[in-house]
Amino acid sequence: MNYKNFTALLLQWHTNVNKRQMPWKGVKDPYKVWLSEIILQQTRVDQGWAYYEKFLKKYPTIELLAKAKDDAVFKLWEGLGYYTRCKNLLYTARFIVKEYGGIFPDKYEDILALKGVGTYTAAAIASFCFDLPYAVVDGNVFRVLSRVYGNATPVDSNEGKKIFSELAANVLDKEKPGLFNQGIMDFGATVCRPALPLCTQCPLNKICSAFKKASVNVLPVKEKLMQKKTRWFTYFVFEARGKVFVRKRITKDIWQNLFEYYLVETAANPLWSYESINDFLKNQTGIQDFKIEQLAAAQPQKLTHQHINGYFIHIILESIPQTLKGDQIQWLGQKAVKLLPFPGFINDYQKIKKNKPLFFKFV
Ligand code: SF4
Repeated sequence: MNYKNFTALLLQWHTNVNKRQMPWKGVKDPYKVWLSEIILQQTRVDQGWAYYEKFLKKYPTIELLAKAKDDAVFKLWEGLGYYTRCKNLLYTARFIVKEYGGIFPDKYEDILALKGVGTYTAAAIASFCFDLPYAVVDGNVFRVLSRVYGNATPVDSNEGKKIFSELAANVLDKEKPGLFNQGIMDFGATVCRPALPLCTQCPLNKICSAFKKASVNVLPVKEKLMQKKTRWFTYFVFEARGKVFVRKRITKDIWQNLFEYYLVETAANPLWSYESINDFLKNQTGIQDFKIEQLAAAQPQKLTHQHINGYFIHIILESIPQTLKGDQIQWLGQKAVKLLPFPGFINDYQKIKKNKPLFFKFV
């Protein structure tokens, strides 16, 4: 596996392209980094930003935070939720003042031993502030690695956590761990996003397995998602010169070994519009010449443990683009398609399509 390309391309993107602004970015003071990481543990960046600034204004040093009255600190935390974080923040500030004379520990193991600090936060503090070679690993990082290396091991399984943590350690730039960690976090948040990643503008698309094999939307695989009650499947039915895109489902999930069209799974109802379909096709598949023919609501399907809802979107293409070729993918004529085994969810669509036009047709 090639790690060097990944590392170099990511760092290049971070240095030359990444414009994401956050007040704690590039900061070396471990007190400030620790504060920002604790705030961000269960809070979105836009919400946490103001709290970070309020805290630093009132308690610019760890000594001042340690000396503060509990009620005053909790008051400042009000609205952020998950108050255990606030309790741990105070505890740890006082612990560092008492045990380390107010100097933040600079060894990974000592940072990790602090109350409220997990492996992600410890790696962030160790790499940003002390240039220690520890990779940050969270959902963002797992997603990027699963897609680039085309690995379908469920990211929330024990095996997946082990594999992707090792992979993260392998791609980490050991000379510039802080810069690299910040880069991969920003990249996961702004380019290789969970839904609708910006593949066509992505600096890694030449080495990205998921992009090359048109499996961006089926990676990463999540065990919990597989067991979830309601799932939203959108199938893009790509047709080019009488041939249709079909692919075998090979991951350990429902309908394994059956065939399907190009799948996009979303956590909630994607409520497709003409514009969002357009954006999706351009940003993710890089197709420029297409006609959005029809959008159809799927016939919901109730399986034993899950309900499947979704849409079928029929797209007519001029020719077969490179981005829709790859392992397991076939482009077949209607007769050959009919011979393949499909799940009931897709068979229902095929029947409806033939018998009655239940579709919203774009003109
Ligand atoms: S090409 Fe797409 S899936 Fe691959 S790394 Fe880039 S944004 Fe992520």
